[in-house]
Amino acid sequence: MRLFRHGPVGREKPGAFAPDGTMRDLSSLIADLGEATLGPTELDRLRAADLSALPEVAAGTRLGPCVARPGKLVCIGLNYVDHAEEAGMAKPQEPIFFLKATSAYSGPNDPVRLPRGAEKGDWEVELGGVIGSRASDIEEADALSHVAGYCVFNDVSERAFQIERGGQWTKGKSADTFAPTGPWLVTPDEVPDPQNLRLTLDVNGQRFQDGTTASMIFPVSLLIAYVSQFMTLLPGDIVATGTPAGVGMGQRPQRFLRPGDVMRLEIEGLGVQEQKVVAAGAA
Ligand code: ZN
Repeated sequence: MRLFRHGPVGREKPGAFAPDGTMRDLSSLIADLGEATLGPTELDRLRAADLSALPEVAAGTRLGPCVARPGKLVCIGLNYVDHAEEAGMAKPQEPIFFLKATSAYSGPNDPVRLPRGAEKGDWEVELGGVIGSRASDIEEADALSHVAGYCVFNDVSERAFQIERGGQWTKGKSADTFAPTGPWLVTPDEVPDPQNLRLTLDVNGQRFQDGTTASMIFPVSLLIAYVSQFMTLLPGDIVATGTPAGVGMGQRPQRFLRPGDVMRLEIEGLGVQEQKVVAAGAA
């Protein structure tokens, strides 16, 4: 299934694609896509429903983030060797992770607003894994059974805030609009191998990132099991699994986001995001 949320900011409703490819509103079946509705039983119930009988979502409707605001956004750092090299950092011996503020959360095509004083806004296309069932100190072999689905995630960053303003990375990762998520939550049955997905990011039509999840240092299954040793992952939580090479900080000369730039992100089978960058204070 491809699931999504549609409607104005803060008032999104759940939706899904019917087998004929039309977008349908799920409001009559569930209140929202989030903590209470992402478990295997609930998703099976949606799968069994006659989606074609539900109201169609009007073309051009805004898409919100593909699941309701999560309790946690856990981001993995330096999970691709080529990105660790461009960042001038050593390949990690075990996963690095940090928390991104959930107030950064935004829709896949909403504008990305640079915070006041930002000079080094940057992009990171990432595979997001959305948790479907509680995961506490689980084994790697069981980890993917806790995943409700996968999505595109842009781990937008302000490098000066992240690296030059004193610890920790969270400081440069958490401004409002710095976590575009979606457009779709794609259930695992439609993602045969999360470790074999091409992911790309363009700015103003120029390709900067072109990688594959096959190049991750630590696979999604290990990341989820690993994080679950340190904190319980709850349904709706998102684990963003790191970015391949090609971020702005890694360019020579470095290339940071400016108002008017347009980022376009795509992961094979998971859809496309497109965000316009706007200045601090802009709507
Ligand atoms: Zn990242």
